[in-house]
Amino acid sequence: MSSQPFAVQTTIDAPASAALLARASEVIPGGVNSPVRAFRAVGGTPRFMASGAGPWLTDVDGKRYVDLICSWGPMILGHAHPDVLAAVNEAAAHGFSFGTPSENEVRLAEEIVRRVEPVEQVRLVNSGTEATMSAIRLARGFTGRDVVVKFAGCYHGHVDALLASAGSGVATFALPDSAGVPASSARETIVLPYNDVPALEAAFAERGHEIAAVITEAAAGNMGVVPPAPGFSEALRRITRQHGALLVSDEVMTGFRCSASGFYGLEQGRAAGPDGANATAAPDLFTFGKVMGGGFPTAAFGGRADVMALLAPQGPVYQAGTLSGNPVASAAGLATLQGCTPAVYDRLDVVAHAIAEAVASELSAASVPHTIQWAGSMFSVFFRDGAVANYDDAKDQDTDAFRRFFHSMLSQGVHLPPSAFESWFVSASHDDEAVEHVLAALPAAARAAATPD
Ligand SMILES: *Cc1c(COP(=O)(O)O)cnc(C)c1O
Repeated sequence: MSSQPFAVQTTIDAPASAALLARASEVIPGGVNSPVRAFRAVGGTPRFMASGAGPWLTDVDGKRYVDLICSWGPMILGHAHPDVLAAVNEAAAHGFSFGTPSENEVRLAEEIVRRVEPVEQVRLVNSGTEATMSAIRLARGFTGRDVVVKFAGCYHGHVDALLASAGSGVATFALPDSAGVPASSARETIVLPYNDVPALEAAFAERGHEIAAVITEAAAGNMGVVPPAPGFSEALRRITRQHGALLVSDEVMTGFRCSASGFYGLEQGRAAGPDGANATAAPDLFTFGKVMGGGFPTAAFGGRADVMALLAPQGPVYQAGTLSGNPVASAAGLATLQGCTPAVYDRLDVVAHAIAEAVASELSAASVPHTIQWAGSMFSVFFRDGAVANYDDAKDQDTDAFRRFFHSMLSQGVHLPPSAFESWFVSASHDDEAVEHVLAALPAAARAAATPD
């Protein structure tokens, strides 16, 4: 993993980034503070950004990119949105952190509870990882059981028990699993294929009395976008109930992005139908992050009040954080959620469809096999023919074609996620100019994808 297998041209395009990467590598392992930022899967030099405004990023060499990462989701309104900036400035002027409760965290919690109907209470934390870790501890405390079921290719942060067959960077680097996770912890995790109801039924038939929770991405986004197949979410709910296990829906990526109430809102809308009947029964716990922090480190877990009541100081399940509910981060998150109007969701759809349709037609014109999959306005491009239902399918794609496509886009000023196993993210600030810039880069990128090097 430490060698760079590809002869890549990009360092010369980015001398200031290359110099920073060299400096960073002296003091930070791999030069990055999160592995997905490194270009290990695509080769070349990660761009160090100097600034962001709306849909554009500017790197330290002064080159501009249309941003299709959007900080892996949070920047749903675009970079440095004036309303969010004003809220941050206002909050910061009153102090950064108190170590006591403050009003902004109450307002953010109220906003989340108002939006996602089954969430009666939330606790704010500092990252999606903390949210899933705490939700799992709470589910174990509530049920008195230890085993957790997760699905291959789903990523729930770098929690020991949830790293087995994880997506995101673990998928990008084809790691078997992480070193440093105790065998005892791995033994408490059952990994099943996503979208496989019989496998879930079999696992519960065998070990149902030991299973505290099933955790799933509401729609998988960390092996590329793989939505739940029809009936899968309902089966999760039915089987966990039957066996007295909790269902934890990880909406760290999809929450407040797929709809105002996340992927849950989309599924409710679909299940409700014209007469409002047959709504999907709600998960017991949810986890949120990314959009709800507006680019600041804040996240949350929440759900049924009777389960949340087990948390300290009310109950025996301990969970805490020096900076949890930070007033500045809470202000950024609240301003971002309040900015997510119906018009914003409409714009995300328009932008995402314009880009995805153009990607599909240019890849078709260049005879590059591809499949595009959706969860709300989140989409990803798999470089293969045929639908992707699970992690095995997702891994069966031409990552070399993606690498060539990625570098062509980058050199033309479009920054995609540097991995074939990630969702692409747009923002409501992606205006027609930004979209046109992306579309103009596609024909050459599609030809590059088609041309082995
Ligand atoms: C990003 C993500 C996490 C982890 O969140 P961090 O803030 O990076 O710790 C957890 N679950 C899902 C579904 C995610 O996409």
